[in-house]
Amino acid sequence: MSTIAAISTPNAAGGIGMIRLSGEEAVAIADRCFKGVSGRSLSSMPGYSAAYGSYTDETGVIDDGVAIIYRAPKSYTGEDVAELCCHGGLFVTQKLLRRVLALGAVPAGPGEFTRRAFMNGKMDLSQAEGVMKVISAQGEAALQAAENTLAGNVSKKIGQVCDSLISAAAALAAWADYPDEDIPAVESGALAQTLNHGISALETLIRNYDAGKCVTEGIPTVLCGKPNVGKSTLMNALSGYEKSIVTAIPGTTRDVVEETVRVGDILLRLADTAGLRSTGDEVERIGVRIAKEKLAAAGLVIAVFDASVPLTEEDESLIALCEGKKALAVLNKCDLPRAEGFDAVKKAFPACVELSAKTDDVPAALRPALETLLGAAGLDFTQEILANERQRRCCEEALSHLRDAAAALRSGITVDAVNVDIDCAVEALLTLTGKRAGEEVVNEVFRSFCVGK
Ligand code: GDP
Repeated sequence: MSTIAAISTPNAAGGIGMIRLSGEEAVAIADRCFKGVSGRSLSSMPGYSAAYGSYTDETGVIDDGVAIIYRAPKSYTGEDVAELCCHGGLFVTQKLLRRVLALGAVPAGPGEFTRRAFMNGKMDLSQAEGVMKVISAQGEAALQAAENTLAGNVSKKIGQVCDSLISAAAALAAWADYPDEDIPAVESGALAQTLNHGISALETLIRNYDAGKCVTEGIPTVLCGKPNVGKSTLMNALSGYEKSIVTAIPGTTRDVVEETVRVGDILLRLADTAGLRSTGDEVERIGVRIAKEKLAAAGLVIAVFDASVPLTEEDESLIALCEGKKALAVLNKCDLPRAEGFDAVKKAFPACVELSAKTDDVPAALRPALETLLGAAGLDFTQEILANERQRRCCEEALSHLRDAAAALRSGITVDAVNVDIDCAVEALLTLTGKRAGEEVVNEVFRSFCVGK
């Protein structure tokens, strides 16, 4: 296996830069471009040790810094690793990387260090995906969820479900294959219980992932309402600064504003808001179809109404459009005298908040309703949480097979059919953790990684 190298710190100027090498030749290559002040060679040093010195090429000193040595298997990748820390300049790190490549290392591909860690059994696929989640975490809860995936909690949970299914399948197969032997009959009650445990564990994982996504990734959100109800004011209150122009003349917001705003731990991804804000107009001008498409693509709709004036036809069509959606109604301008007739709004929406975007603390006012609506209230991110859509798909597939198995068992179909479904469920779960994932799945996982990780 070749020895790989990459700059592992960000591609930007900073206090420290680091070139990481991994593979059999890692320490030998590092040795050939490093001169320690103590005179000791890196090759003579044990794992987990560091030396201060200078990095050199044929022309002289490149920089000074600290080299850290890890010995296989006690390293991130499970191989010998050298981490060459230098000053964090763009040119100096490039120059040191070029030097180690000239000495025989090859450039690492995206995620190749983590891929080697996976290949060497240092972590499974779900943990590798946890690494990426830690890197991209944008808040406390997201980080907690990612750290707990990285720690292997998802793998552990999936492992438990798998183990119980495998032993149930084995007992079932033995019993079906050797009817004359003295093998105890598999009790269908116990088998049904195993299946139900699996089903409920997978359902919980999927439910928590879906609810947690509005925290870890953000939820695509549409902010809509007829002109002048206060959408821009609301948006500015959420983002904390004047981003779009607030004006008393209806329909003047036409700039494209894309924004992720935070309400408590929830991230609302408000995209293409200029277009979305004119939904009220579009209902009039272009018709209901386009507005419907926009709303259909959203994970959350925030429908804004002006509570100081009576409902209009436009408001009514917005109410109709939101039917069946995960939608929050905001009755805005509650600092002004109230108009009548908003009970219809309260009835039509699963959640409704009355506020003044002008005078209230908008995030605080929206938070409880959003948390309840999105199922994010009381989510425990120290519990196992799936890291991404791939893991969710694997769980969905396993779940669907387990439901089929349970149904087959209930209707008294042959145990063979039950066993086939259990096998398929196990297969999907082993793909999730990577124990039985094909090359393609592994490639897919690491494709999104950054170089140097
Ligand atoms: P948009 O067209 O829906 O984006 O509406 P804007 O945010 O531009 O607001 C239209 C007008 O309503 C502006 O004059 C705002 O200052 C005013 N406005 C917005 N929210 C409130 C509110 O809660 N109370 C009061 N009194 N005025 C508001």
